[in-house]
Amino acid sequence: MENKVLAPYTSWRVGGPARFFTEATTTSEVRRALRWSQERTLPVLLLGGGTNLLICDEGFDGLVLRYRARSWALENQGTTGLLSLAAGTPIGHLAWIIGSQGWSNLEWAAGLPGSVGGAIYGNAGCYGGSMAGVLRRAWLLIEDQVQEWSVEHFAYGYRSSVLKQPRRFSSRRSEEGEGAPASDPDRTCPRPGAVMPAVILSAELVLKRQDAGSVEETMKAIIANRKERTPVGHSCGSVFKNPPGSQVTAGQLLDQAGLKGTRIGAAEISQRHANYLLNLGGARSDDILRLIELARNTVLRQFGIALELEIQVVGPVRP
Ligand SMILES: Cc1cc2nc3c(=O)[nH]c(=O)nc-3n(C[C@H](O)[C@H](O)[C@H](O)COP(=O)(O)OP(=O)(O)OC[C@H]3O[C@@H](n4cnc5c(N)ncnc54)[C@H](O)[C@@H]3O)c2cc1C
Repeated sequence: MENKVLAPYTSWRVGGPARFFTEATTTSEVRRALRWSQERTLPVLLLGGGTNLLICDEGFDGLVLRYRARSWALENQGTTGLLSLAAGTPIGHLAWIIGSQGWSNLEWAAGLPGSVGGAIYGNAGCYGGSMAGVLRRAWLLIEDQVQEWSVEHFAYGYRSSVLKQPRRFSSRRSEEGEGAPASDPDRTCPRPGAVMPAVILSAELVLKRQDAGSVEETMKAIIANRKERTPVGHSCGSVFKNPPGSQVTAGQLLDQAGLKGTRIGAAEISQRHANYLLNLGGARSDDILRLIELARNTVLRQFGIALELEIQVVGPVRP
């Protein structure tokens, strides 16, 4: 499909067209799509639930591949359980189903937006848990080969993994490489000839047997807390990472800087949670980008802290 507008595929509801767009639910469909783009030297953007991406108004000049394989199976090993799942499975709903059956270790993810693949890619986490703490291994398609990776292979840190630094795991190099130049480290801008992305196909998580009632209680409390803290409107969750080694969260810094309620176009820094930037309806990516810049510069000026992005910006690098 050509010139597919991406806004409906992102939780921010912004983003211009993909030059080419396709969906895949099997490994062979993923393979076919990647080969097709390689033959045309097109860059590829992999899309899960679109809940951690800011796609620019210019769109994506390449192939957007949306991975939608959804399945799961649980192997009961007594006190532990091995949960096998396809990477396109929505994690928040699955966590609820598994927890209600008396399996613990994934409660933190109850109600978390996005897919399993996106969560593994960025080491999603909240309420004391993270993917790093539950993942045992995953299967990835890398340069046409399916590879099995143990959790250690992902070199997880706070909202980071080796997959966010493609040059560190890909065996093949292109002259241009992948990603934005150093002048704009926030922006992902794969170019023709860039290495293909690694596609997480499926994964295995380790769960622990626990009383179903108590797991449900925990999940209900998490979901209620999430609901209370989450501002109404289209967003991508927290925009900035919490500064390393600081007792103060990014949201607190933005709040103390007096930024709550600041608007550019139809984008607003939420009144309820300053680390959420909302599309109030009809916002452009550019409104959000300018708000991000404003927020970052204000915090830097007032507190001397350079906030890092938790979300990923996709689009052309500007001078
Ligand atoms: C209201 C709200 C609340 C949120 N709360 C939290 C929170 O508490 N904690 C938290 O950590 N995050 C939170 N998020 C962010 C988001 O839920 C997570 O980052 C999520 O894991 C992203 O998954 P996704 O499928 O949407 O990824 P996408 O946004 O589609 O993609 C994100 C990145 O992952 C890559 N990717 C996606 N699928 C695959 C795959 N199969 N193989 C390889 N790479 C892949 C993409 O290429 C992209 O680089 C929140 C978001 C929203 C909207």
